[in-house]
Amino acid sequence: MDQSITVQKSNTGLGVFAAESLEPMTKIAQFAGPVCTLDAVPKEQLNYILRATKDLYLTPETDARYVNHSCDPNCFIDDDLFIVTRTVVHQGTELTISYNRISESEAQDWGNFWHPAWSFHCQCGASRCCGYVNKYITDEVRPYAESPISRSEPQHALK
Ligand SMILES: [Zn+2]
Repeated sequence: MDQSITVQKSNTGLGVFAAESLEPMTKIAQFAGPVCTLDAVPKEQLNYILRATKDLYLTPETDARYVNHSCDPNCFIDDDLFIVTRTVVHQGTELTISYNRISESEAQDWGNFWHPAWSFHCQCGASRCCGYVNKYITDEVRPYAESPISRSEPQHALK
């Protein structure tokens, strides 16, 4: 395991926490493991899989497996499937990604399919929490500097 993170109990089972304060753009864990079609994923793994392409799903065997969802996550997943911090994350803070925010191109490629086993009532506590996660949202999570969702000022205030 990477020394900069720990896997420990969270509100919703296990979670991944910062063992030290982390700078933005720190790689904390990579999604790695067997890749197969959805039909071939063992039932007990359905809640852990990462959609890699339209038809292929990765079952993570690394600490990435335990990173929980937030509607306002402090990490994102890069092109190499690393979980990367978007901002400064202080020691002891839980590291989170969004399970359902995807890019426009992914949405076009993947369509509307969402497995019922992936749905859950969110307890992330974010002010922008959507409450019930049961579909993809095309509002990709990016580093804060590039991310429209992180602006604290409403758009119209820029006039
Ligand atoms: Zn939420």
